[in-house]
Amino acid sequence: MNIILMGPPGAGKGTQAANLVKEYGLTHISTGDIFRKALKEQTKYGVIAKYFMQFGHLVPDDYTIEMVREYLKENTFENGFILDGFPRTIVQARELESIEKEFDFTIDAIINLDKLVKRLSGRRTCKECGATFHVEFNPPKVEGVCDKCGGELYQREDESEEAVTIRLDTYNKQTKPLIDYYTMKGTIININ
Ligand code: ADP
Ligand code: ZN
Repeated sequence: MNIILMGPPGAGKGTQAANLVKEYGLTHISTGDIFRKALKEQTKYGVIAKYFMQFGHLVPDDYTIEMVREYLKENTFENGFILDGFPRTIVQARELESIEKEFDFTIDAIINLDKLVKRLSGRRTCKECGATFHVEFNPPKVEGVCDKCGGELYQREDESEEAVTIRLDTYNKQTKPLIDYYTMKGTIININ
């Protein structure tokens, strides 16, 4: 089973993906995570992506598509996979069709948009283990310290209020039209 997971930043795609991984043994492929890893390791894609990611802009299509193409080629997915964060533009959706055609569902995670800025800009991430918290909705026991490993919590650059606003704007302009595209194909499921 292959699934495309869509929805605005902060809708809880990562959480839902984790549930699907547990339930169906799917492999979770998050282009955001792949970019962040590349950034840490300073690979070619990481160096390019940094400038776009930090301000909340999309990484240009050619690099993103090339990276996904390589990733899908180099890995095997026994029970199928969940694509989280790709495609995000019509160009990417078209390219995906030439890479991998078999998708069973497209899931559209729906959320009230005015909740998102608060949800995203309050998020704090552990420098050591990557666990996430929220200053208001899921605070750590000790402010600024990870419950799981004691690591230091920080705010991701692209989770500042300015960057979040740009990300939502980008989503509305570039990614939302894809929902119509998949609706026309008839394989979309809406989840609140
Ligand atoms: P979000 O919470 O916005 O869904 P992600 O972790 O999926 O965040 O992505 C983080 C960043 O990585 C995006 O803001 C963008 O800069 C880059 N990125 C991820 N996926 C794509 C994509 N398909 N096309 C272009 N840029 C992407
Ligand atoms: Zn931690």
